[in-house]
Amino acid sequence: MTHLTNVVIDHDVIGWAHSNMQKLKDRYNNIYIVGKDNSPEELMNNNISDLNIAKYCLNNNCDLVTADKKSYVDWFNSYNGITKLVISKFDYWNEGHRPILLIQIENTNHIENITPYNFNLKISKPLETAPSRFKNKIITMVNESLLHFPELSDDRITLGITHVNDGNASWEEGYKIRLNPRRLTYFTIGHELMHLLQFKGDLPMTENSTDIFTLARSMLFLDEPPCYLKIPRKLQNYWEENAESIHSICKDAIEYRKTHRNYIKWTEDKFGQLTIKTR
Ligand SMILES: [Zn+2]
Repeated sequence: MTHLTNVVIDHDVIGWAHSNMQKLKDRYNNIYIVGKDNSPEELMNNNISDLNIAKYCLNNNCDLVTADKKSYVDWFNSYNGITKLVISKFDYWNEGHRPILLIQIENTNHIENITPYNFNLKISKPLETAPSRFKNKIITMVNESLLHFPELSDDRITLGITHVNDGNASWEEGYKIRLNPRRLTYFTIGHELMHLLQFKGDLPMTENSTDIFTLARSMLFLDEPPCYLKIPRKLQNYWEENAESIHSICKDAIEYRKTHRNYIKWTEDKFGQLTIKTR
């Protein structure tokens, strides 16, 4: 990725920029404040629209610091010239009572046919260089899965590849999930995203509980049996035929857990007692 050395400061965060100038200078060679002296002519009009600010950043390889991501997301959704909008938290402005967001617009055309529902998804180098049929499939499926994890919508998640297992998740150096392109299922993606949610706290962290919470989250994740829960053989063989019952047992299990111990055994017992539909 090219090193960006220019940044544009949006109207709404000028106060923040003045008190954080050093932070900006550490990172950028040129700092252009909208409507202020020393900025390029196009940015000198105080009434410049968000659309024109975004276009300026796109055409001149500038990052953008703003507090208002919505207008840029709307613009991104309606504008065909770019493929990726990366929004990350840059700071929190106490006086202004708002988060300071860093927006990076990329018009690289190497990812095609992808609708980035989640603007924080970061593609790791190994995935970036993977065959495009793998890459597109993984990114599309992860984006689709992320719609069911609104708790992660503000987090930057790096997406990588693994060949040693179905998938794994880590958080030590930022949230990251790695997926196996040969054994890719929504279930695995959901399971790894559930681990990321666990790192935020409040959720049990065993593998069994990860499976239950994943299966309870959405029917999307019922495309294969889980690896850790005990599932009767026959139910494994007719997994998709019984997806609705399985999904609701797992939702019930999460309710049950609020007042009981041993909800995992409770869930496995329910699976054992289920009248299995074979078609
Ligand atoms: Zn796991």
